[in-house]
Amino acid sequence: MALKIDLVPVLSDNYSYLIYDEGSKKAAVVDPGEAGPLLVAAQERGLSIEHILITHHHGDHVQGVGEIVAATGCKVTGPSYEADKISGLTETVKEGDSLEVLGEKTEIFHVPGHTQGHIAFWIPSASALFSGDSLFVLGCGRLFEGGPQDMWPALQKLRELPDETQVFCGHEYTLANAKFCATIEQQNAALDKRIAEIENLRSRDLPTIPSTIAIEKSTNPFMRADHSSVAESLGMAGAASVEVFAEVRSRKDSF
Ligand code: ZN
Ligand code: FE
Repeated sequence: MALKIDLVPVLSDNYSYLIYDEGSKKAAVVDPGEAGPLLVAAQERGLSIEHILITHHHGDHVQGVGEIVAATGCKVTGPSYEADKISGLTETVKEGDSLEVLGEKTEIFHVPGHTQGHIAFWIPSASALFSGDSLFVLGCGRLFEGGPQDMWPALQKLRELPDETQVFCGHEYTLANAKFCATIEQQNAALDKRIAEIENLRSRDLPTIPSTIAIEKSTNPFMRADHSSVAESLGMAGAASVEVFAEVRSRKDSF
């Protein structure tokens, strides 16, 4: 049975996710920044939460863990690299590991930069990537713990996933990201079309998630630092792609 994925807004602009199997009624939760909305969402659907997946240690991604574990006794999987900063983990994983989530094979990518131990979860059978605060729709996470030399290879790694892979990220930052992207790549028809779609969705208060790897590859300047169109619009034709990426990131930081 194919897994279903529902987005559950928590805190002010975080997205948690409820992954579930309608046959068995078993569920997993990604990045519970808050417990209440996830417990309610599971109850409304008649689901029992048996697994929590954590992408990184920031409070807005983990604060609901204790309450969900207390209510359900579920297991908790998170990054081995920063396991010391996350309480309640029952299992740690790292790059190249695979685990089962609701019986489905799930692969782990180490995607440092936002935090140095940040991971992403890929469930191939659901065509779903949970990217936390590494890859955003038209953006990437702020480099709190790492640098461009960490995040640029991480995004290149995610770029290798199948085009149809759905991207489920940790925040609804898309409209602000779109406004920034319009200042970086002015000659990108795919980006123009995407910005119009995003403005439409947000004007109706609808989420812009999921995106797909194909859409991000054609529109997200952070994923396109090795495209000449991005380098040229920054006046950096011929520069190393990691330097182009660093320039995009630093312009976003002061946008
Ligand atoms: Zn974060
Ligand atoms: Fe966050």
